[in-house]
Amino acid sequence: MVEDTRLVVLGSRGSIAVSGPQFVRYGGNTSSFALAVGSRVVAFIDAGTGMVSYRFHGLHLAPSLDVFLTHYHWDHIQGLSMLDAVWADDGRLVIHGPGDPRGALTAVITPPWFPVSLAEAPGVHCETIGRSTEVSGTIVTPFEVEHPQGAVGYRIDGPTRSLAIVTDHEAGTGRDRTVADAIRGVDVLVHDAQYAPSESAIRRGWGHSTWEGAVTAAETAGAGQLILTSLDPRSTDDDVDGIVEAVRHRFPDVGVAAPGLEVRL
Ligand SMILES: [Zn+2]
Repeated sequence: MVEDTRLVVLGSRGSIAVSGPQFVRYGGNTSSFALAVGSRVVAFIDAGTGMVSYRFHGLHLAPSLDVFLTHYHWDHIQGLSMLDAVWADDGRLVIHGPGDPRGALTAVITPPWFPVSLAEAPGVHCETIGRSTEVSGTIVTPFEVEHPQGAVGYRIDGPTRSLAIVTDHEAGTGRDRTVADAIRGVDVLVHDAQYAPSESAIRRGWGHSTWEGAVTAAETAGAGQLILTSLDPRSTDDDVDGIVEAVRHRFPDVGVAAPGLEVRL
């Protein structure tokens, strides 16, 4: 039997985790996505607080695991120190990221910020992202986006469908062309939609997009479906419903990266 390859959303909140009755439907955990084959997680994209919730979605970790980080801001790495596989000595775990992943991560996953240093983790290897990496029949390809200190997005070409994840990107900048070239023709685009269009002027240079920027990116790429991510921690479920309603007038096939949402690849 051929097992399904899919991306499972574990967290899509930007900046900081939130909780409470206002955040039940779209979740409060920060950015993390599991690449799963059957019920096995073979890779994660981003390691925000959502990372450790994989088990609540019927998933378990494969003995060989890749983690692809978009960048090193807190909300994209805080789940890593609490992932059992990081501290286990019987598996293979490779952390891929832009620049110097080992330097960036060992600087913060160490006392006094965490009880144990990542430098002592027996099975962890860090690699600067290259052109493309093959993971269980899926090709993961990074591309640069516009974000303070630099960041990347990932295009994921699965056995039957393709997807791009652009968690933190300021649309409307000179980098849009690079992003458009990298994500052209994807079936599904998961894109930063943190701000309302009315906020774009006061948030310029902060490294995030408005939902209008996400729509333009999806239209330019020719994406079949748009999934909104990097939700503003101030946006309640009802606020997000309002954003979806506004987007739907321009891009009908729109959804939100709510925990448990799956995209077949
Ligand atoms: Zn960031």
